[in-house]
Amino acid sequence: MAWRLAHALSTLRKQIDSAHPKRSKRSDGTVGDLAHSKRKSDHNPNRAGVVQAIDLTHDPQGGFDSYRFAELLRTQRDSRIKYVISNGKIFNSTQHPWQWRKYNGSNPHSAHVHVSVRDNPGAYDDTRNWTISKPMAMGIADIEAPPPEPTEAQDYYGRCWWEEVSDKGTEEESSESQPSPASRRPSKPE
Ligand SMILES: [Zn+2]
Repeated sequence: MAWRLAHALSTLRKQIDSAHPKRSKRSDGTVGDLAHSKRKSDHNPNRAGVVQAIDLTHDPQGGFDSYRFAELLRTQRDSRIKYVISNGKIFNSTQHPWQWRKYNGSNPHSAHVHVSVRDNPGAYDDTRNWTISKPMAMGIADIEAPPPEPTEAQDYYGRCWWEEVSDKGTEEESSESQPSPASRRPSKPE
């Protein structure tokens, strides 16, 4: 199946590559593989054949600190963004907009940042430059404040194509509704 990356994300990657030509691309990713295409993910091509997500490798030594980059995206509030996952945290632009929350997916996204763009072509194919190249080129030293502690809200999950993500909250959260021991039946051997 023919696919292409959303133009907004091509622009973003181009800017980052030109600012950090030696950055590692070890954990970079765009399109999901076919085996995973049944899973809901922005890494799968949408109906128009467009992939609306990109992963960019965390490589501070190569000049690209994806944790700080994610924080930069959060503070810039670019309207093209749907959600961003980085280092155990997630923010999105609609629910609890632009606030870090705890991310409980199986992949903590410590090796790369995940960026999803919004579902309408006017957003995902918007080719305007992102307002990140200057601070990124300067090593984004201007970003002083550490990200705030994520809240415990669990109502949204991003997905990367290689990971299984539960749609439920954490086990601690669901402990109140755990079945009683009596209702758990031991499985019978065949
Ligand atoms: Zn991803």
